[in-house]
Amino acid sequence: MKSHVRVVVIGGGVVGCSVLYHLTKLGWTEVALIERSELTSGSTWHAAGGFHTLNADPNIAALQGYTIKLYRELEEITGLSCGLHHVGGLTIATSPERMDFLKAERAKHRHMGLKTEIVGPEEIKKISPIVDTEGVIGALYDPLDGHLDPSGTTHAYARAARLKGAEVYLHNRVVALEPRPDGGWDVVTEQGTIVAEHVVNAGGLWAREVGAMAGLALPCLPMEHQYLVTEDIPEVYENERELPHVMDPGGESYLRQEGRGLVLGVYEQGCEHWAVDGTPWDFGHSLLPDKLPRMMDQLELAYHRYPCLERAGVKRLINGPMVFAPDGNPLVGPVPGLKGYWCACAVMAGFSQGGGVGLTLAEWMVEGEPSRDVFAFDVARFGDYCTPGFVLDKTRENYQRRFAISYPNEELPAGRPLRATPAYGLWKARRAVFGSAHGLEHVNYFAPEGEPLYETPSFRRSNAFAQIGAECRAVRTGVGFTEIHNFGKYDVSGPGAEAWLNRVMANRMPREGRMTLTPMLSPKGRLIGDFTVARLGPERFQLTASYAAQAYHMRWFETHLPERGVTLRNVSLDRIGFQIAGPRARDLLARITEADVSAAAFPFLAVRTLAIGILPATVSRVTYTGDLGYEIYVASHHQAALYETLVAAGADLGLTPFGMRAMMSLRLEKPFGSWMREYKPDYTPAETGLDRFVSFAKNDFIGRDAALGERDTPPGRRLSCLVVEADDADVWADEPIWKDDRVVGFVTSGGYAHHAEKSVALGFVPTEMIAEGARFDIEILGQRRPATLITQSLFDPEGTRMRG
Ligand SMILES: Cc1cc2nc3c(=O)[nH]c(=O)nc-3n(C[C@H](O)[C@H](O)[C@H](O)COP(=O)(O)OP(=O)(O)OC[C@H]3O[C@@H](n4cnc5c(N)ncnc54)[C@H](O)[C@@H]3O)c2cc1C
Repeated sequence: MKSHVRVVVIGGGVVGCSVLYHLTKLGWTEVALIERSELTSGSTWHAAGGFHTLNADPNIAALQGYTIKLYRELEEITGLSCGLHHVGGLTIATSPERMDFLKAERAKHRHMGLKTEIVGPEEIKKISPIVDTEGVIGALYDPLDGHLDPSGTTHAYARAARLKGAEVYLHNRVVALEPRPDGGWDVVTEQGTIVAEHVVNAGGLWAREVGAMAGLALPCLPMEHQYLVTEDIPEVYENERELPHVMDPGGESYLRQEGRGLVLGVYEQGCEHWAVDGTPWDFGHSLLPDKLPRMMDQLELAYHRYPCLERAGVKRLINGPMVFAPDGNPLVGPVPGLKGYWCACAVMAGFSQGGGVGLTLAEWMVEGEPSRDVFAFDVARFGDYCTPGFVLDKTRENYQRRFAISYPNEELPAGRPLRATPAYGLWKARRAVFGSAHGLEHVNYFAPEGEPLYETPSFRRSNAFAQIGAECRAVRTGVGFTEIHNFGKYDVSGPGAEAWLNRVMANRMPREGRMTLTPMLSPKGRLIGDFTVARLGPERFQLTASYAAQAYHMRWFETHLPERGVTLRNVSLDRIGFQIAGPRARDLLARITEADVSAAAFPFLAVRTLAIGILPATVSRVTYTGDLGYEIYVASHHQAALYETLVAAGADLGLTPFGMRAMMSLRLEKPFGSWMREYKPDYTPAETGLDRFVSFAKNDFIGRDAALGERDTPPGRRLSCLVVEADDADVWADEPIWKDDRVVGFVTSGGYAHHAEKSVALGFVPTEMIAEGARFDIEILGQRRPATLITQSLFDPEGTRMRG
């Protein structure tokens, strides 16, 4: 074994081997993989080997597409066989809701260049004659689906890496990780210590244990999973072609051909975790005891869907463990706060995603950032809110929902409530319907008396539609209030604070008492943050941004923080409060403070320290509703008192609570973009219009060269606003935008703008097509809807309400 390498990858499953290969592919050859046993000694060896592109997140779907196309490349490089069977796959729908879901997925695929298609029952029967189509409405057919040999593929990755100089050390367990003063790691193994600049946790079933070696409690747990292999079936081996995969989400099952028989796997609702307290080190090429009774409900449905199964004997049953994160996506990337420690674990679909995970991590390590937004994978999408009980509940829920329809307005129940502010009980008493993000409860809307305290999951306008409209109108015609807890908030202070912020943010920092909006850019000029900065004192700033991006932003800040002169604190849940918005907002504020809050004394984008009643508060004149409005921040223990103060003063002004659904509708009328919808690392300032908040006069800030380049060579697409002739369904995200018979763009977000009474879509269209009144079509649930581009905002285009 070498004594020093640049990277040690811990774990020789399909994911670790893919990471190793991709590091060498991108030019890092001083790399080694350490495996405690043989390659494939975790989940990998007993996988069913299926792969597919279907994923609700377009970037993950693209990485799955990359993975599938990579296998041929691996075979060519190594001469080894991955045992590929490109047989295509059907995902069938037995309910109108599932059909809506598949149509929405198909629509997304258009601008991703994936050649999926919607097929009817007759076509299904032709593609897979063993399917009984009773009750089937249709299916999505994906020609890229297929399966492979898990062991052959893992060895092909390893061989391809070795050919480029990587080392693979087998039968050598990593027993400890010790950080070095130079920022690297001593990787202590059974056969001695190897020094590495970077370590990658690809420990699969033992990812938690490899995390614990560095003091980490990774949010993931193994779940048992079962599939059976049948004896030979005449309907199978007599068929002319190899049968395609069939996913029957209604039956929670997947099926494919294996030799002359079939493989049938099920996601049992009565699922079980495995080794919750830790994966034993002596578990290897082992399986768990069969639990056939647990599969019986799904098997019964499968016998109905594939009658030939009833006549087939079961050759073997596989019950093996695989690791899930709370949302079922992998944990990838640099771990916040741990220099040189990277994750590539919790990959529960290693043969669909392993290549993409390897590529992403290698790009991140070698080039400094991945080439696309991978927040859905990012280990930093979770935070310290993930208690063991939360992880247990969410991983169970995720397993059970493996085949569930993901509705865009759906709020999942497991692991809630977890975090809540003092206002939670107050809102509950007002019939709040809650949502949750990053472990924190927020109000979506308030259900009127007699209405259910539950929003029906739907791709169409939900039962909350009328109430959201009422909340929007209350804001636009009087004054509304809602919480401001779900922003990430950071206090930055010290003699070096301004200079540091001027370096990490693209805009110039404001003067004392003022606020500024600013993008944060990566070195390649991509959007990695969309911040509001308030200067609270000569050396003190408050930053606000997306709540869910806290760990992501803190990781970036901490990596770039100077050794002295700047103090950074995450104060997200310490500073909470309410925003008030609407034409009567100033009247309300004037009633609860002695200070002069006239437009002249307290203009737009000003920030003041005020006494609100008897409470000390920081008040900023800004609101995401695009109306006249203020955000009132207090210490969390003062929030309930602030609530009482507002309610008492606002009663005769018609003060009305509103939720996030109304806020997201109101912002469309400006239109304001939103983090992870319009603004994310896939896009740049010029594409999104955020270049108006880039200070090119500043000499030095991260991403400046790239932003300057964009100014000289304008981008080919730009974020635009369109009014859609919708029916009972509005856009959510990723719908294709058509011009004549061509898909020319895609939607980033949208919905119904209740005050303007218009269905609105935000999305990217080619720059040359942008003109007031330009006509497009947007595909919503399989139907093309006419859409008209607008260049003036639907509400307050002159900004007199917001700024006046
Ligand atoms: C029954 C079943 C069916 C499945 N079917 C499919 C399917 O059809 N399609 C699909 O895409 N996925 C499927 N999966 C999931 C798939 O198996 C996993 O996504 C994949 O194997 C994960 O690979 P990995 O490399 O992350 O982890 P693992 O395969 O668990 O590999 C981790 C490796 O790290 C090594 N290791 C751990 N700790 C150390 C240490 N301290 N020192 C040295 N080495 C260490 C282990 O020995 C092991 O070899 C299935 C899983 C199960 C259980």
